Amino acid sequence: MIHECLIVGGGLAGLTAGIRCAEAGLKVAVVSGGESALTFASGSIDVLGSIPGQPVVRRPFDAIDCLAELSPGHPYAKIGREKVFQSLGWFHGQMAEVGLELGLASDCRENQWRITAAGSLRPTWLSQPATKAMPWECFHGDGACLQKVVFVNITGFLDFMPELAMCGLKQHPSFRSVAVEHFNINLPLEHGHGATADTMRAPQLASAMGDRDMDILARVLSERVQDAELVVMPACFDPDLGCNRLQKLRQRTGLNIIDIATLPPSVHGLRLHKALRNRFRALGGFLIPGTEVRHGTVDGDRVMSVSTGEDLLSADHFILASGSFFSKGLQSVKESMSDPCSVQEPVFNLDLHSWADQPKDFSSHQFLAPEGQNFVRSGVALNQSGQPMVAGKGLHNLHVSGAVLGGYDPVQECSGGGVAISTGWQAAENVICQVKGQQV
Ligand SMILES: Cc1cc2nc3c(=O)[nH]c(=O)nc-3n(C[C@H](O)[C@H](O)[C@H](O)COP(=O)(O)OP(=O)(O)OC[C@H]3O[C@@H](n4cnc5c(N)ncnc54)[C@H](O)[C@@H]3O)c2cc1C
Repeated sequence: MIHECLIVGGGLAGLTAGIRCAEAGLKVAVVSGGESALTFASGSIDVLGSIPGQPVVRRPFDAIDCLAELSPGHPYAKIGREKVFQSLGWFHGQMAEVGLELGLASDCRENQWRITAAGSLRPTWLSQPATKAMPWECFHGDGACLQKVVFVNITGFLDFMPELAMCGLKQHPSFRSVAVEHFNINLPLEHGHGATADTMRAPQLASAMGDRDMDILARVLSERVQDAELVVMPACFDPDLGCNRLQKLRQRTGLNIIDIATLPPSVHGLRLHKALRNRFRALGGFLIPGTEVRHGTVDGDRVMSVSTGEDLLSADHFILASGSFFSKGLQSVKESMSDPCSVQEPVFNLDLHSWADQPKDFSSHQFLAPEGQNFVRSGVALNQSGQPMVAGKGLHNLHVSGAVLGGYDPVQECSGGGVAISTGWQAAENVICQVKGQQV
């Protein structure tokens, strides 16, 4: 079967592009090699939380114009703020179609706060339902809207560290006068087949918990927490879409309980990935998992096919959404210890942002350097028409989206999810436009 569009990479960007193509009626396939960044992510969608030299961003879409002035090569600068907003709104609706109701602030153009497992506060735009991110006013400035927060862990579970989260939270000016406490709850783990929580990751813990465990949680929480406005627990409740054990626990205890992403694998990230795959398939998209594309064949300004080593996959249009270093969409190459690092895009050998090859800037020895790590900004460069290039020549039927793109720093900016979704959507719109244009 020859697809109208073939997408390389089945993470947030690739599946977003696939959903939009399938929704528009295109024959579309996604080929994906392995785990995506969603397995490690919080499952909340950050659009834009920080711009160098500016206060933390409250209205991410409004801030895109300023960002575009400072960084004209930024993926958002090429799409424009209204289309970024449109694409994110569309994404919110698509996830709701498969039962994942992501939370928005009451003003849908504003960020909310989410608490991380390290106790820091991150601005985010869409939150997982169980996380129930806090409104902006709550933690902005010196006074928090809370008097007391309690962290609760399952005894033995090692991938959530309440002490670490408490220390982190107390560093925030809004939390200096807030009482923060923690305790553990012992659970029998009804479906754990005798295994204990210290041998489990969050998704296994979620599967191991049964009704008896939920009864114990409800009883102990009701007994021990009466005066806290917020109870923070590890995200280990609802691995499946439509599962709402945390919601029931809130109802039974009357407590404001949130769950936050633990060390990976992230239950919230996996849920989001599942929702994306479900939506893509429901719209008729064809998913080819566990398959890595090794090489693309280019003839003039067109990609003709991609090879998996065993099969040659042809299509009229291609979208590359292979992620960053993390997912092998980009590779750093070092010939010898004394040589500088250089960066490559391994499938098509696409041109990259020129400064990505500058050895002295590749990385900083300070892990959390205030100016960020330059290699994070490495990635595919686009020409004025938004096309990727090989040796300076634009490719007409290849579009690029997500973390394989260069020119932005998802970590510093808190923009990873928003860039993946908006560039995935834009890549699909470009393909749809070309396909429909050909049909006219
Ligand atoms: C640890 C971590 C935490 C994060 N937390 C957040 C967060 O809380 N909020 C937020 O908004 N963003 C977060 N991000 C950023 C965000 O998750 C990513 O920017 C976004 O998911 C990237 O999506 P992507 O589809 O471009 O790439 P990826 O998710 O990396 O997906 C790329 C996919 O392509 C596949 N692939 C690669 N090469 C090939 C090939 N040759 N053939 C076939 N398949 C291939 C990979 O196996 C992978 O499945 C986080 C990122 C990380 C790493």
